[in-house]
Amino acid sequence: NDDQFKRVVSHAKEYGYIFGSSEIYDGLSAVYDYAQNGVELKKNIREYWWRSMVYMHQNIVGIDAAILMHPTTWKASGHVDAFNDPLIDNKDSKKRYRADVLIEDYAEKLNIKAQKEIDKAKKRFGESFDEAQFVATNPRVLRYKEEQQEVLARMARSLEAEDLADVKALIEELGIADPDTGSKNWTEVRQFNLMFGTKLGASAESATDLYLRPETAQGIFVNFLNVQKTGRMKIPFGIAQTGKAFRNEIVARQFIFRMREFEQMEMQFFVRPGDEIKWYEYWKETRLKWHLSLGLGEENYRFHDHEKLAHYANAASDIEFNFPFGFKELEGIHSRTDFDLKAHEKFSGKKLQFFDPELNENYVPYVVETSIGLDRMFLAVLSNSLQEETLEDGSSRTVLKLPSILAPVKAAVFPLVKKDGLPEIAHEIIEELQWDYNVIYDEKDAVGRRYRRQDAAGTPFCITVDHQTKEDRTVTIRHRDSMEQERIAITDISAKISKSISY
Ligand code: ATP
Repeated sequence: NDDQFKRVVSHAKEYGYIFGSSEIYDGLSAVYDYAQNGVELKKNIREYWWRSMVYMHQNIVGIDAAILMHPTTWKASGHVDAFNDPLIDNKDSKKRYRADVLIEDYAEKLNIKAQKEIDKAKKRFGESFDEAQFVATNPRVLRYKEEQQEVLARMARSLEAEDLADVKALIEELGIADPDTGSKNWTEVRQFNLMFGTKLGASAESATDLYLRPETAQGIFVNFLNVQKTGRMKIPFGIAQTGKAFRNEIVARQFIFRMREFEQMEMQFFVRPGDEIKWYEYWKETRLKWHLSLGLGEENYRFHDHEKLAHYANAASDIEFNFPFGFKELEGIHSRTDFDLKAHEKFSGKKLQFFDPELNENYVPYVVETSIGLDRMFLAVLSNSLQEETLEDGSSRTVLKLPSILAPVKAAVFPLVKKDGLPEIAHEIIEELQWDYNVIYDEKDAVGRRYRRQDAAGTPFCITVDHQTKEDRTVTIRHRDSMEQERIAITDISAKISKSISY
């Protein structure tokens, strides 16, 4: 809901996770900076992905290709001709929107209406309520669901046929209004290319037009044969990559969900033609398991299988996550056929084929890709972890229940008081732990306040050095989620942290 979303955005700023870009100049829309805690969380998510994809699969290796690529790359990939979004302007407000997003929002509202009916009935019938039965028979719910499907199907059909007049007709028939002003005075729908252009070279005459890459995948395709040969890879094998991508998004809103500069984590898996659907199913399942392993709650994920397929795909599905503003795409799993490699063969004149020793033949492999936005994953983790708890004594606490393995700071070490040699012992502990973990020191305010500060920042452990420590070399270790405290030996701290963050 809206309130939770606002809380997430302000919490992200207050606790050093995300700042607007160039804020002193009033910011740059849909561009963000990762702050001192944000950079750690982002790095940890990237690492969690990299380990599971590259280290846990003997047939997957990584690369780091450049952001700038030869301009023909984007002709071959289809991005010059087809990387377009349907835009519509409101004549009164002069605001620009993505026509498909306006229609999707309308469809989502129908979904919410249906859910309200379900919730109402649930309250009324209590224990004996049979949700599946209700959804299948209640005329209102059926009508909402049916209309939702019809609207989405018609939009998909018109977009596929590039019938932009019908997209506009649909917006008018549904009575969709400008979300800010309520005006229904729309322009025609037109296509807009999302790539950022730039120039290579100094003088105007000799400069070459380049694009900032809108996806990382093409850096993998153009290196396919280099990696296959030098890595002695046999099909099936994969190439993984994380890195920045750039899109001149029109509907730039929802914080870091849709940015103009963002980071992708992609893996292209090269398979025998004909085996692609088997691998597509494998990667759908494997990627969902990765998400579930973080413990953000199974009910917060769902697959959305595409009916409308991109020009390069023969099967595609999104893993959607329950963001504060509803279920939205977090990751895409696409069966891209041999579209990309074949296109690069055609435009470059170079063969991009694999000799399969078992079949004794050459072929252009098929590709199954998994593509996830690192920033979207960050938002999923952050929004899901931010919780407001009411404690037994009636007071409330704000706690960021990040999975420990992703937490920016693993432990904060406190001296109970700023004297009697306690700060020195705390620093000694830090000097020992910092070889393995990101740990911090804090001596300001009462210990209770320091605990709350670390709860809100997402730190899973607080370690307090007190007078007893001087006698028996033990400390108090406090757990963020349960708020339980135990007394343990200084020499056992490392093992305790390590146990909670091991892969
Ligand atoms: P959407 O429909 O939301 O625009 P997409 O289908 O265009 O996304 P893909 O091209 O499949 O997205 O990119 C793969 C992943 O990259 C997405 O699942 C998403 O997590 C991420 N991503 C795409 N565009 C953005 C963006 N503008 N900001 C942040 N992440 C993005």
